[in-house]
Amino acid sequence: MMQPNTGDGRASLTMISTSQLLDDIECWQWIMAGYQIAPEDDPAGGSFAYFDWIIGEYETEIDRRKRAATASRAPSWPTAGESRVSVIDAIKQRLRLEDVIAYETGARFGKPIHGRLRCRCPFIDHRDTEPSFVVYPDQQSFFCFGCGNGGDLITFWVAFHQLSGVAAAVDQLRDMAGLAPKRTAPDSARAPTGRPPVRIE
Ligand SMILES: [Zn+2]
Repeated sequence: MMQPNTGDGRASLTMISTSQLLDDIECWQWIMAGYQIAPEDDPAGGSFAYFDWIIGEYETEIDRRKRAATASRAPSWPTAGESRVSVIDAIKQRLRLEDVIAYETGARFGKPIHGRLRCRCPFIDHRDTEPSFVVYPDQQSFFCFGCGNGGDLITFWVAFHQLSGVAAAVDQLRDMAGLAPKRTAPDSARAPTGRPPVRIE
């Protein structure tokens, strides 16, 4: 997942399932969204254009399939990749990013300064010694000026719990938000309670 196509990109993209293409587009957009929250720092550098190009390639392939979808031999269109967007919207309406971060990491932000909340970076790979981690409640986004991690609620959850993708994060946050579960049998979904605080400020 999320592997950029190499060489003749179109040839390789045709072999990827539509739901995977939609998931990959979503993942690249999350990555770009993470970079976009602090554009003045331009942490992405020249790679921003690269992400743009990749997403463009994927969207071109999706457009091609939409045109081909009327053909008699076309497979049915998957719903997972698109319906997930509405689930994410519902999660974000119920959960505030700063609340989830405080709950999950034990961080105490104190008073906002210029509308920003700061704490030491909770990501395990970043041994932050000062409060480099900034949350923007108005935008419901975060950015770490130490390690460059940034994004929104979903991005935070994926990075903090070191998940392999967005799907698991959506399932777990769906539970946390009290939304109806996708399936009745709890398998990989873990209750986000009882986790020890991580490097509180
Ligand atoms: Zn960091």
